[in-house]
This record gives sequence, structure tokens and C-alpha cells, in this order.
Amino acid sequence: MELRGGAYHIGGVQASRIAELAGTPVYVYDAVVIGRQAKRLKKAFKGTPTRFMYACKALTNLAVLRHVRSLGLGLDTVSIEEVLIGLKAGYKPEEILFTPNMVPFEEYRQAAKLGVEINIDSIPVLERFGSEYGGSVPVCIRINPHIMAGGNERISTGHIDSKFGISIHQLRHVERVVKTYGLRVDGLHMHTGSDILDTEVFMRAAELLLECAALFPNLRFLDLGSGFKVPYKPEDIATDVEDLGQRLAARIQAFNAERPVPVELWFEPGKFLVSEAGVLLVSASLVKQTTATVFTGVNSGLNHLIRPMLYGSYHGIANISRPEGRKRIYTVVGYICETDTFAWDRQLPEVQEGDVLAFLNAGAYGYSMASNYNSRLRPAEVLVKDGKAVLVRRRESLEDLLATQEEADLETVTAAPIPA
Ligand SMILES: *Cc1c(COP(=O)(O)O)cnc(C)c1O
Repeated sequence: MELRGGAYHIGGVQASRIAELAGTPVYVYDAVVIGRQAKRLKKAFKGTPTRFMYACKALTNLAVLRHVRSLGLGLDTVSIEEVLIGLKAGYKPEEILFTPNMVPFEEYRQAAKLGVEINIDSIPVLERFGSEYGGSVPVCIRINPHIMAGGNERISTGHIDSKFGISIHQLRHVERVVKTYGLRVDGLHMHTGSDILDTEVFMRAAELLLECAALFPNLRFLDLGSGFKVPYKPEDIATDVEDLGQRLAARIQAFNAERPVPVELWFEPGKFLVSEAGVLLVSASLVKQTTATVFTGVNSGLNHLIRPMLYGSYHGIANISRPEGRKRIYTVVGYICETDTFAWDRQLPEVQEGDVLAFLNAGAYGYSMASNYNSRLRPAEVLVKDGKAVLVRRRESLEDLLATQEEADLETVTAAPIPA
């Protein structure tokens, strides 16, 4: 979103116009920003055989998935539903990586049937997969290197207490299972968690993965997951992808020189691709002065954007209706009957009821984490592409909310735990 000629614009379209047409709350995504981020990654790793698999749990709208595919990226999925959505969006099975955790084995079977690349993150599943498929379906193995990435325990997945991956200390056991069943391991994966501030962490993870690679001669790829940090606060630092690209290029080149089959480097960026591309537009419903602060209440809450309450994350806020108004200090809160504070003590152009506010950097883990809590309807989604704003998901209705409720004799219904 940019301020131009005294008005905020998203992909060339006035933000206030979008709010007027689509109503609020509405998520708005700028296709150009997604394209810019993809280009930046590709440029940073130019010269190294690299593939980027968009971690679609960040934002799964079909129109966004189609756009990401048009940019030449693959897909990283964490549930069989995401796999099916990816296929629906036009991805070929071989462009999809399935990286689930703690799912019923039936999901692996279905993924194998669909022909997507399967990433296995526990020894029991590896054994079971081996006994059913042997070497007929190649697998990727998710290693937990026990590298603590970033400072936020809640979004770190590589530490010792983590439920993700097979510990790097269990490699001997992995080798035994692989050998016994003749498993074909074509990839190694590690995703240390979100928010890597330091390319050094990536390099350490890469070194560990390269060491493990010695055990698997048929690898096609090494997947370093994500952790690409984007700036949320003005003073935040982003992952230096250009520096990382340079450092990894040399390392992978040297590694590949000694391999019978050269490996590709894979990454799974989620928020790097879509976070900055998205804003959540809401309307101020009430400005309420208390003894301690001035609250601005909006027609949204933790049901639409839970990141501030769940992770303590920061989202910039802009007053779309009054870009150049005199600033005052506000505490911006939602309408949910919980304490759903988006932000304390923000300087915003003086807010009047009805003003449209924008939460910035809301493209990733915004809509995809939205719920119907308090029986509230989820917002609409708009994608701005080629200078045109397109409604890519309509706002929910009360009928949608009630659509799955029925009274049926349990004896007469068939359980379908996994969507086909
Ligand atoms: C969530 C996730 C990602 C994406 O993380 P971001 O921080 O959004 O880039 C990548 N890989 C896996 C396995 C994930 O679970």
C-alpha cells in the first residue's frame, strides 16, 4: 500500500474505493508485491539450481495460488486439504510438497496416490511407509537439526522440545529403516522455524543438512524450509536473502562437484511472499475514551487477524480515510468478547467513527487463521492484479455459517474423515 497524491493505493487502485465497493472488513492483496518478492528470491539465488515452494498455509486463496504458480513457484502443503486445493489451483502433483506433522497415515496414502512429493517427519511413519511402499514411492525426510531460530519460542520449530522432524541424532535409525525397506530418499528437509534474522543460522542448518546428505546418494534436493523474515515494525530487519544467496551458491556448487547427481536447493517461503502484499481493511465502529486511554474499536477482531494476540506480533496501522490528519494516540481493539487488542499507543491521524483503517503486512496468516468465533462472518478477499481489483472470495453469510448444521441419526451417516 502506498500513499500517492494524498490517498492510499493498493496495486494502483484507491484503497478507500475498494473498501467502498467490497465493504469492510476485507483482505486486499497486491499481486505486484507478491511478484516482486518472488523475483527478489529468484534473483538472490540466480546461478544456483533453486526451487521455491510457496508455503501456502500463509494464504490459500485459489486466485493467489494461481498467481504464485504463474510466477514459476511450487507449493509446500501441510495437510491433504492444502494438497487438494493446490491441485485445484492448477499445480501438477510433482510441483507439490506435502509436509504434514502428526497426521493419520491415511493422509500419506492419499498423497502417494495423488503423486505429490511426500516429506516424512517421524520414524514410525517412515517405517510404515517403507513397509507399504518400499522403494516404489520416493520420499523426503524432515530432519530436526535442533537449531534455535529467532527469539520467539512459539514460532520456532527446530528446538529440542519440538514435535517436528526426526532428530539429527537419530540418523543411524533412519539409515536402518531406509536400508531394510529399500526406501528411495530423494530429498532432505529442515525447517528451523520462523524469523531467522541471521544468515549464519541458515548456513549452520545448511552445513548440517549437507553432512546428512552423505548418507543418501540419490538425493534430488535439499530443502532448507523457510524462516525468511519480513519487517513488521519500522525498525525491524529482514532476512538478507541476497547475502544468503551468495553464501549458499558457493557452498552448493562445491558440494555438487562431488556428487554423482547434483542436488537442487529448495526453499519454502510463506510470509516472505505474501505478508507485505496484504492489508486488512476495517472500519472504526467506536472511539471510546476511558480513564487510561482512547480506544478505537473496529468491526473486526482476533477472529480475522489473530497474530497480534497469538504471537504478540506488530502490524502497522493506517487511517485510509484521513491519511494526512492530525495525529493522536490510540489503543486499537477488536469487537470480540475477549481482550483482542491489535495495538497499544499508536499514533494515528485522528480517528472518527466510520473511518477505514488498514492493518498492514496482513497477507500471511491473516485470512488463513480466521475463524467464526462469536459467530462472526469471515471477511471478503480482494486481489488487485494488472491495476484491477477482483473479488476473489465473497464475504460469508449467516447461511454459510449454518450450512453444516443438521440433525441426522448417526446410524444413517457415513463418516468421511478425509476429503476425497
Ligand atoms: C509454515 C511453514 C513454512 C513457511 O514459514 P514462513 O515463516 O511463513 O515463511 C515453511 N515450511 C514449513 C514446513 C512450514 O510449516
